[in-house]
Amino acid sequence: MSKKIIIIGGGIAGISASLQLARNGMDCTLIEKKRFLGGRAYSNKNISTGDLIDNGQHAAAGAYSEYFKLLKMLETDSNYTGRELRVPFIDEQGRKTVLDTSILPGSAGMALGMLKLGGLSITSKLNFIRFLSNVRNNKIKPDGQSAYDLLIKNKQSGDILEKFWHPVILSACNAKPHNTDAGIFIEMLRRAFFGSKENARLMFSKVPLSKLLEKFEEKFNLRNGKLLYSSGVEQIIIENGKAVGVKLKTGEEIKADKVVAAVPPKSLSSLLPQLIIDNHFGYLSQFEYSPIVSIFFWTDREITDEIFVALLGRKLQWLFALNKIHKEPRSSEFPYLYSATISAANDLINIPDETIKAICIKDLSEIFDKIADAKILNIKIIKEKFATILINPRAARLRPNAETGIKNLFLAGDWTATGLPATMESAALSGTLAANAVLKSF
Ligand SMILES: Cc1cc2nc3c(=O)[nH]c(=O)nc-3n(C[C@H](O)[C@H](O)[C@H](O)COP(=O)(O)OP(=O)(O)OC[C@H]3O[C@@H](n4cnc5c(N)ncnc54)[C@H](O)[C@@H]3O)c2cc1C
Repeated sequence: MSKKIIIIGGGIAGISASLQLARNGMDCTLIEKKRFLGGRAYSNKNISTGDLIDNGQHAAAGAYSEYFKLLKMLETDSNYTGRELRVPFIDEQGRKTVLDTSILPGSAGMALGMLKLGGLSITSKLNFIRFLSNVRNNKIKPDGQSAYDLLIKNKQSGDILEKFWHPVILSACNAKPHNTDAGIFIEMLRRAFFGSKENARLMFSKVPLSKLLEKFEEKFNLRNGKLLYSSGVEQIIIENGKAVGVKLKTGEEIKADKVVAAVPPKSLSSLLPQLIIDNHFGYLSQFEYSPIVSIFFWTDREITDEIFVALLGRKLQWLFALNKIHKEPRSSEFPYLYSATISAANDLINIPDETIKAICIKDLSEIFDKIADAKILNIKIIKEKFATILINPRAARLRPNAETGIKNLFLAGDWTATGLPATMESAALSGTLAANAVLKSF
């Protein structure tokens, strides 16, 4: 008889673990407390415009192998479009420089792109190339320090820190360099810049994120998987030091041979008895979170020719022209859709939307001349207070493996020990690691 597995949480990690376990003949039940899948990567209908918009622009990289493996299983990977790593930066004075790494593959392309980039001193460029080469040749070790300390030690200060590393780390790790573990930073560099040209590509979904998961239920059911929506787990049942099932918020109990908890740390701590937390999961309360604020706005005309731009020295950090990324034609009433992102947005997360709107309009009008003639038709602010955990050196040491101190209880989630920033790739990889650990445990 096939073994019964319960997976808690229908985010990318839970979906990844569920699908792989079901494909390996396990009798799986995925329990999701909301009425939709996707967790922190989901879409919602904007009432004013009728558009399905994401809870924040999610970019991927060609190096996201586990994430794309998952989408391939769901037959939705073709919804992604790739762009060579060509990043336009606009500084405070509105000057544009373009980092174009597409000329050569891997780190050679990065080095050449950096040499041609405007606005940086030649010393900084040469120090950058030396740094990249030292990372590539394993001459630089993370040593439990922050990305900031690592960069400073390796002569990456001043203009290169402010104009390059700062925005790169903010967007990839949702944290400032001093709050980022050097280990995940180095791993990110390796994957993005030292592999093939494809790995370095920036990938954008041409459809809203929720559509990427639409086929999950059908594929899961075909493998006898059961999906329970709108069903919060109240507690993981632990008897004699073993996980034996879950109790739902409705009071119903479901027994299982193994339980995979694919929920963020703060949710997990509410699912376990206090004694178990004290003895095995004391680290859960030590994670901190980093917020992201996203501003979606609709205009009557185009404000930039670019698909995306990095904004330096501004509150807004990135701007994405969604009408150029999405494949669906737009309505004539709301023809242009943009999304601006602010990572590590601790200073904005608790301030009123009206203030954020004003900051956004000020930044945009100082950068893009075309905004003066454009009419902003609608603005939607989305604040994600718990967007990702902060992976500083201390948190990096706390990240747990899939196996836990409790028999038959396994963990998944972007925050677990994947060695990657807390991203969709980390979530998908954690699902694979948890599925492998479960299969190995029989
Ligand atoms: C605004 C924003 C922008 C981002 N941008 C990017 C980006 O550009 N690139 C990138 O790679 N990543 C990005 N991320 C990060 C990415 O979204 C996450 O890393 C990923 O979605 C995490 O997936 P997960 O499955 O680990 O966790 P989650 O998505 O949090 O999934 C956990 C699931 O468990 C469910 N759950 C919790 N408690 C219970 C319970 N008691 N019972 C049942 N179900 C429960 C939740 O409802 C949720 O569905 C962004 C995140 C945000 C918020």
